[in-house]
Amino acid sequence: MRVAVVCRDGVMRNDVFYPWCNGTANRILASTRQKPEANSWQGTMNTHLLTTGSSLSSRRSFIKQIPAGLGLAAVSFGTLAEAMASVKQRPPVKPLGIALVGLGYYSTDLLAPALQETKNVRLAGIVTGTPAKAAAWKEKYGIPEKNIYSYETFDRIADNPAIDIIYVVLPNSMHAEYTIRAFQAGKHVICEKPMALSVRECASMIEAAEKAGKKFSIGYRMHFEPTTQEIMRIGREQVYGPIRLVTAGAGYREGRSDHWKLKKAYGGGAMMDMGVYSLQAARYATGEEPIAVTAQTFTTRPDMFKEVDETTLFQLEFPSGAVASLSTSFGMNMNYLQVTAQNGWYRLDPFSSYSGIKGESKDGPLNYPVINQQAAQMDEFAQNIIDNTPVRVPGEEGLKDMRVVEAIYQSIRTGEKVTLPPIS
Ligand code: NAD
Repeated sequence: MRVAVVCRDGVMRNDVFYPWCNGTANRILASTRQKPEANSWQGTMNTHLLTTGSSLSSRRSFIKQIPAGLGLAAVSFGTLAEAMASVKQRPPVKPLGIALVGLGYYSTDLLAPALQETKNVRLAGIVTGTPAKAAAWKEKYGIPEKNIYSYETFDRIADNPAIDIIYVVLPNSMHAEYTIRAFQAGKHVICEKPMALSVRECASMIEAAEKAGKKFSIGYRMHFEPTTQEIMRIGREQVYGPIRLVTAGAGYREGRSDHWKLKKAYGGGAMMDMGVYSLQAARYATGEEPIAVTAQTFTTRPDMFKEVDETTLFQLEFPSGAVASLSTSFGMNMNYLQVTAQNGWYRLDPFSSYSGIKGESKDGPLNYPVINQQAAQMDEFAQNIIDNTPVRVPGEEGLKDMRVVEAIYQSIRTGEKVTLPPIS
């Protein structure tokens, strides 16, 4: 029996490493070339296993349908195919309805297009303060009038059963308010990064989710990206021994002096916008929470950066002894992550772009399928709701970042190292 793996981009990959295999049995023989059906994927990876007489539509159902104890490492492909043929296909589900709140850049250019590719969730509604946008989105995406809200009518969404999930894509200062109001309306919520302006706000959002009994996730899309998942695995399994140093930088040159990202009251600044990617990278690469923070900030455009940081450098110390030297900027383009471990190194460049994540290690390139990160993220969240399973990136993940961001600001203010109590 031969097994072929076809990924979402339609390219079959021979002899590649698949991160969900938990580091084992990751060599899959490919014997044929075949395009997947349109829109036929779900979960974090659009992977089809094609076998004679049986096929499975997703890695999620693939993983779930393998009988307990039947590890990939332990099974020949013949046995695996028989096992797969003997289990039932997951019945198709009615996609959940999602409403995007705030139709700016990220909603327009990334989320709405991604929602054309999702299987478990569909673009059902919008919340906007601009009537012209409402009309354009209604036309473009066939959104019924009854599912279009303004910020004034937002709370009426509680009475709309077509909306299951609210995705908050607003300026950072509005995340807490709209997330809490969405939970009060009885909806599940995804909130964009950074989660909020303070640990206190994050805690109140998590409390609102618990009170509502609804699912909550933060829009950290990198957790769904295969090469990034491999970085997490290499660190977790200490493939190159203990991690000693993480360096990462995330930035772009911001030219809009009147944008909310330049205003403190809106939660602007490089640290809040791009800095959380560098911070996330250090946390997911090490799998640890920092216990000490130092930080410095600089600007070459003082007239523009009166209220918020243009370039921030920050250093983290982890319980294992690993250290991270991280940076973020609204003044320069950069995007890289490098991990130095006791017995080797690995890096991604870029590490947080929407696609084209490129990796290599001391042993050679890290090549993984390119996926639509946002589609994977939203599909998996919807699947979590359908199955009532834990989400991959819960509110606590955003809170843990904000705890460090608060320490970064404190260190900048005082010029001193800030120690943080260990957390699990
Ligand atoms: P944007 O400025 O392009 O869009 C913000 C939207 O909010 C606009 O439609 C604006 O009209 C609306 N809005 C409502 N009330 C507003 C008010 N009082 N002031 C200003 N705008 C108001 O911003 P964006 O780049 O789309 O970012 C939105 C959120 O998405 C941010 O939290 C950002 O961090 C996040 N984001 C995430 C990613 C990612 O890759 N995960 C990428 C980009 C942005």
